[in-house]
Order: sequence, then structure tokens, then C-alpha cells
Amino acid sequence: MKIPREVLVRKRLHMENEENLSDDNDNWLHEEWMTCPACHQPLFRIDQSPLDGDYHFYCDRCPVRLDVSVYEPKYDQIQQALPHCPEYEEKNAALIEVMEAHLKPCQCGGRFRHDAPRRCFSCFTPVIVDDPAYIDLYPDEDIFERALDAERQKKLERWRAQFFPDLEDKWKGPSETEQ
Ligand SMILES: [Zn+2]
Ligand SMILES: [Zn+2]
Repeated sequence: MKIPREVLVRKRLHMENEENLSDDNDNWLHEEWMTCPACHQPLFRIDQSPLDGDYHFYCDRCPVRLDVSVYEPKYDQIQQALPHCPEYEEKNAALIEVMEAHLKPCQCGGRFRHDAPRRCFSCFTPVIVDDPAYIDLYPDEDIFERALDAERQKKLERWRAQFFPDLEDKWKGPSETEQ
């Protein structure tokens, strides 16, 4: 699969911000176990991989996450409607803003935002508040495992259904965005 240019550029930006890349190579996505400050639930944080071309949006009221793939027709449509802008970062910010405006609200009534705080899955307390874009929070590492025993697989699927649903119909209709 061809990696879109934006993703490669984002990768480069990540790299440039990386001070101790060589010292830190084993953990270049900054994987780290954390604890919810409110309920002490263990949580697993990891930077979004630069090879992952999806845009991750989080509800601004609950821990639900929604991904937008760069292969979605709607993504293309939004990107092509943007005014021309030579600077990658500026263009990316504009793109994110338009995508946010076109996403349907979360079931809880919150809005999906690229930089919404990352929340605990048990008590919904915001855990990563400063600069949370391109960081993801999980209850554990199981989503990255290739094979899980039946019980963990079931738990992962329950978590997915609740907090990381694969929504077919995530975009607002044309009339809903004209506000
Ligand atoms: Zn908590
Ligand atoms: Zn929500």
C-alpha cells in the first residue's frame, strides 16, 4: 500500500522533534504505562506511529475515539475542497479543523476533536491534557498483539465496541454542516 505524502512528512516532523532518537530507539513511540490519577486504573500510552496514516479524533466528553482513514472518499473530498496552502503544518491544521466540523457528535453528545484530552476508560477523568494530539491511550497493550487468548480477545472486543467503535456513518449530512 502506498504511504501518502502527508504521512511521510509527518514522520519527518516527528523525527526532527526527537532529541535523543538514537538513545531512545527501542521506545521511539514513547510507550509508557501510566495510572489514572483519579481511580488508579493502569493505562497504556503510546505515540501514534508515523506509518499510521489515519487521523485520530477523541470525544471531548468521554474516552471514545474515532479514526478517519486517508483512504476514505470523504477524506479526499475534504482535502480537495481546502484552499491551496503550501505549508504542510498549516494545511494539516486546516484539514483537521474541517474534518472535526464534519464529524457527527459522539453518542454522549460530545464533539470529536483531534486534540481532546485522552481520558481514563474507567472513570473518564482526563489523563493526558497537554498536547494530546498524536498520542493514544489504551487500557493495555492487547490491541497490538497478534494473537490473544480467548478471554483477552473478548475483553479487547468489549473495549473496542465501547470506546473505539468502527462507525460506518461518522459524517454529518450536507445540511448539518451548514451552521
Ligand atoms: Zn480513572
Ligand atoms: Zn463521547
